Amino acid sequence: MYGYMGKYAIVDLTKKEVKIKNLEETLIQEYIGGRGFIIRWLYDMLDKKTDPLSPENPLIFAVGPWTGTMAPSSGRWIVGGLAPQTGIHSIGIGGGQWGAHMKWAGFDAIIIKGKADGPVFLLVENNKIEIHPADKYWGMDNNQLESAIRSDLGNPDYHVAGIGPAGENLSHMATVIVDRTRSAGRGGMGAVMGSKLLKAIVAYGTQGVKVADPQGVIDLTIDLTARLMDEPHYKTYSYWGTTRFLERYTEHGGLMTRNAQKGIFDNWRKIDGNVYLDQFRIKQTACFACPIPCSSYYTVEGSEKLGPAIFGESVSASTLKEPGARCGVSDMGLVLRSHAAIDRYGLDLISAPATVAFAMEAYEYGVITDRDTGGVPLTWGNGHVVLEMLRRAAFGEGLGKVLMHGSRHCARTWGKGSERFLSDSKGLEPPATDARAYPSWALGYATSSRGACHMRAYSVVEFGGVNEVQAERMGVSMEVNERLGWKGKGRSVAVFEDLRSLGDCLTICRFVGRNELAFPENIVDLYTAVTGRTVTVKELYDVGERITNLERLINLRQGMKATDDDLPVRFLEEPLTEGASAGKVVPLEPMLIEYYQTRDWDRGDGKPSTERLKSLKLQNL
Ligand code: SF4
Repeated sequence: MYGYMGKYAIVDLTKKEVKIKNLEETLIQEYIGGRGFIIRWLYDMLDKKTDPLSPENPLIFAVGPWTGTMAPSSGRWIVGGLAPQTGIHSIGIGGGQWGAHMKWAGFDAIIIKGKADGPVFLLVENNKIEIHPADKYWGMDNNQLESAIRSDLGNPDYHVAGIGPAGENLSHMATVIVDRTRSAGRGGMGAVMGSKLLKAIVAYGTQGVKVADPQGVIDLTIDLTARLMDEPHYKTYSYWGTTRFLERYTEHGGLMTRNAQKGIFDNWRKIDGNVYLDQFRIKQTACFACPIPCSSYYTVEGSEKLGPAIFGESVSASTLKEPGARCGVSDMGLVLRSHAAIDRYGLDLISAPATVAFAMEAYEYGVITDRDTGGVPLTWGNGHVVLEMLRRAAFGEGLGKVLMHGSRHCARTWGKGSERFLSDSKGLEPPATDARAYPSWALGYATSSRGACHMRAYSVVEFGGVNEVQAERMGVSMEVNERLGWKGKGRSVAVFEDLRSLGDCLTICRFVGRNELAFPENIVDLYTAVTGRTVTVKELYDVGERITNLERLINLRQGMKATDDDLPVRFLEEPLTEGASAGKVVPLEPMLIEYYQTRDWDRGDGKPSTERLKSLKLQNL
């Protein structure tokens, strides 16, 4: 089978049993791989009574046909399950090298069920999966875990997907961390892993991936890479990563500051990409087979107060925004220390600082006091306090017992009107890019199938825009590029969501498939060269839409309502007060109407129409 290893494993930790199965042909045809496989299996395995932290909730890792080949950015891996933070499904996408190794080890997916009777790890290596005790690793952070496993197993090339203390302690903000710094699984996939007492999945493979047309894959990869290098964002991402974007957010008045009290952070220059590049970055690096080295290694000097120097990787705009502007912190050394701590603990880089920022506002307004914080003043801008609260959230200590489950849990626990400080949707916090300055991102936060997220749609209409050809393909006018307008954004967000769903099946990174390479017209030939399967452009578009609709069906079954496609009151009723978006709130309702019409979903009950389901071959679900 070309492009696939042709096998997936079902690991039952309760029974200590590994079963290896062949991939079904219809699964490949209708869902391609990665996110598609996971969502189809989740539909079959979950029911509305499934508790996210019970043995019945499957945790699924999958890769796509491009993973492990030379196709651009083909190191992606996907994890999914039912999320404790939101109660609906969550699917996360990560980078690094681990995904390629899982595939080279012989598996397109691993489904983990049940719960072990003590801490374990999986060793996935050349066609076999073994369950090993992990008692000695339990309690380690993700850096310690990788070092210890590589040393104990005697192979420095083993790649580790693991959980830190946050996952062990079942924090709803716990993620899975791969290769020390590559995180995925917002909504608490790390807690799902922890609930199964699964500390790590160690992958190492040497088998490679057979492709149908090797010369075609080489030629098309060269061609697509050349076209990518012609795109305007290529140079920016290759040199700066996304660290340059603080300037743009500030220019637009959309840099979420102090838990979204403001859209401009007065000290933004102190944590800007320039400072990072000049004073902290060592060198750029990239995930497996990626032509955009958007990531970088960095170091922060040690001090008596803060402890030893740290060395890390994977700084992005989120690093600077979340523990930075969102919490009012302008000390770059402390911002980077927070980022490194988040990876070590296995926390979510967005939700964890967002929850600390929420607590800071609650403290400012007296909702919580020194009695709740153990005497720690949660004052804006104090990076030491942010670091300490992240630690407490990971370990569930003191105030951390509440913080560890996210901002909505905090609001429910503390009450006293603190709901009005929330900036989440469906229980998940968005990144610190203010919804009021970017209507299509706002809509994407509201409709995202895993709760507020910029990566589901990853709309670019307000960030460089779409060209005329792309706009025509999407069925919108060039008016869609107007930053503060709303017309065409309902439709464009729906199309982007489907394109991203497709990209997560193949699997292609958002930054590589940001513009042209997201469209099936440009990637259909490479799909055929890798897999030997002939498909039409329309069939690829349909795969993306099928996945979005299936995710909707799962969420509705888990209890989500159409009214949950919503934003918090702050974004809808409190205008930004300064800068280029002053006076703006999110024009959500007209965008939602357009979005629902595009999708052919009922605005009342949120269900896809029978005709739409039939056209996507989902009529029997
Ligand atoms: S663009 Fe960046 S995040 Fe995406 S695959 Fe390449 S290095 Fe990884």
